[in-house]
Amino acid sequence: MLRLALQKSGRLSEQSVQLIRDCGVRFSRMDGKLRAVAENFPIELLYLRDDDIPGYVADGVAHAGIVGENVVAEGGRDVTVLNRLGFGKCRLAIAVPKGSDVSGARGLAGMHIATSYPRILGDFLRKEGIEASIHEISGSVEIAPGIGLADAICDLVSTGSTLLSNGLREVETIFRSEAVLVAHRDLTPEQTKTLDALRFRIDSVQRAQGYRYILLNAPNESLPQVLDILPGMKSPTVLPLAESGWSSVHSVIRDDEFWEVIDRLKAVGAQGMLIVPIEKMVI
Ligand code: ATP
Ligand code: ZN
Repeated sequence: MLRLALQKSGRLSEQSVQLIRDCGVRFSRMDGKLRAVAENFPIELLYLRDDDIPGYVADGVAHAGIVGENVVAEGGRDVTVLNRLGFGKCRLAIAVPKGSDVSGARGLAGMHIATSYPRILGDFLRKEGIEASIHEISGSVEIAPGIGLADAICDLVSTGSTLLSNGLREVETIFRSEAVLVAHRDLTPEQTKTLDALRFRIDSVQRAQGYRYILLNAPNESLPQVLDILPGMKSPTVLPLAESGWSSVHSVIRDDEFWEVIDRLKAVGAQGMLIVPIEKMVI
């Protein structure tokens, strides 16, 4: 049985649970319960505070976990980071009051910086050779300059709107983070096997998220151009349509090229395009 720790409630909870469900693992999530055993996969889920996850995994109480990279880096516990999961993206940034004339990290010398991330901030300041003092506080960091507790802050940001609404301006990003899958250093062969099976499924789910399946009709004379535009996984599938002189083409396109590809296909005569999401992609 592999014990996997997820955040109990917070910004990563929902997407962590969804990812495990997308991997075909069935379990019931009962409010207030701290653990759940999966019905069809040898894992047990533990719901914990995110800050506790690296420690539980390092100690082997949990064998793996899903947590923000920022928490892993700040905790300084010995865990292996296996996969970046593509959600929970944020950055750790230093910000100063809007009216301040500090323009870059160098300008922070001699200042008091409030943060919940003293380790990551300390490493950054040391590396840059900046002498500033760190005030560790556990929450509501963004109000620190306004109440005279600090000259600057270092806090997690995703859109930056919280900073703006507190009259702060970003001067430097010191760390970029997303949710990661972490594991204990010393797993048994059986635990490793279960974790590998889970990672294989995570890869398939993630790969699928970056792609769409496309079906379209094209006149046979424009097939060479259509096939040129559609690289696909191997080569696209081409099937004759009942109407002579026309074919149906099926392929896979990348999400980030989507609109550009559609425009080019239209320009060479493709019609009746259907674009559908892919649930899993195994290669
Ligand atoms: P817990 O109760 O589990 O300790 P928390 O309040 O410490 O929760 P959350 O606010 O739920 O933590 O954030 C969890 C993680 O989500 C963060 O550690 C970070 O990796 C990520 N995250 C993404 N965007 C943001 C953001 N804008 N602010 C804070 N965290 C963010
Ligand atoms: Zn936390």
